[in-house]
Order: sequence, then structure tokens, then C-alpha cells
Amino acid sequence: MSNSIKRTLNSQKRIALIAHDNMKGEIMEWCEANKEILSRHFLCGTGTTARMIAQRTGLPVFGYNSGPLGGDQEVGAQIVQGKIDMVIFFSDPLTAQPHDPDVKALLRIAQVYDIPMANNRSTADFLISSPYLNTEYTHYVSDFKEAVKERAATL
Ligand code: PGA
Repeated sequence: MSNSIKRTLNSQKRIALIAHDNMKGEIMEWCEANKEILSRHFLCGTGTTARMIAQRTGLPVFGYNSGPLGGDQEVGAQIVQGKIDMVIFFSDPLTAQPHDPDVKALLRIAQVYDIPMANNRSTADFLISSPYLNTEYTHYVSDFKEAVKERAATL
């Protein structure tokens, strides 16, 4: 594909886990149910979610800052740097969040970098049972360095 670069997600994935407060019980339950599969991958998450999952399951989960304090932006920045391969985000569709712009930014950046992202439990179930979870997966993302060079040359 022109103006695209090929990227390969390793068979061992770097998975970010995030849940809004009303959904924390559900993500912990989901992680417990899928503990054996998750234990084969690298886990990280926003501060409170990461801590609660680690406590509940005993799995190592690297914690960024708490979501409302910039954790969603940190996860987004890791995606930009190619350091996160998948996001499981149990967001709360019924409660206003103080950091709604950060949540939207995370959704957008995952789209930009073609990162698989689940926003509810059924999608998370589909992702966790995908054959791509435990194999390499090759995809194409825009070559942003090339795009910047072309843009700078025309302005
Ligand atoms: P938290 O952040 O895990 O620190 O609660 C989640 C969120 O983005 O609301």
C-alpha cells in the first residue's frame, strides 16, 4: 500500500486494560475469567484499573496514571510509539466522565494506528478468542513521517 508502513504485532501482545468506575467490577470479573489467556501477554492499564486487576487476579499489570489524571493520554502516547497492541476499555455509556475529551482522544488514536480495541464485554470476548491473539498479525498504518515530509514541502 502506498504511503503506508507495515507493522507486525507480536504473538505476545501488550494489552492495555481500562474501566470506568461503574465498570471496574465487570472488567475484574472478565480478567479473572480469562486469567489463563491474559497471563501469556504483557498487561498494563490506567492506574486504578491496573491496581484492582492485579490485586484480584495476581497477574502483573503495569499501571499508568489514573485515567482522570492523564492515564488515558499516557496509554494513547504508548500507542503512538507502537508500544501497545490492543486495548480493552470497559467504558461507561451512561455516566458523564470529567476526562471525556481524553477518552475520545484515546478512541481516535487507536483508530488512527489500527489497534484492536474493545469497548464492551462482548467485543472483548471476541478479541480474546481471536486466533490473532496468539499469533503475529501484520497490518498497515499510514506512514506519518512521510506525510509530514510531504506536507512540510508544500507549505
Ligand atoms: P482509572 O482510570 O483506572 O485510574 O480509574 C480509568 C478511566 O479512564 O476512567
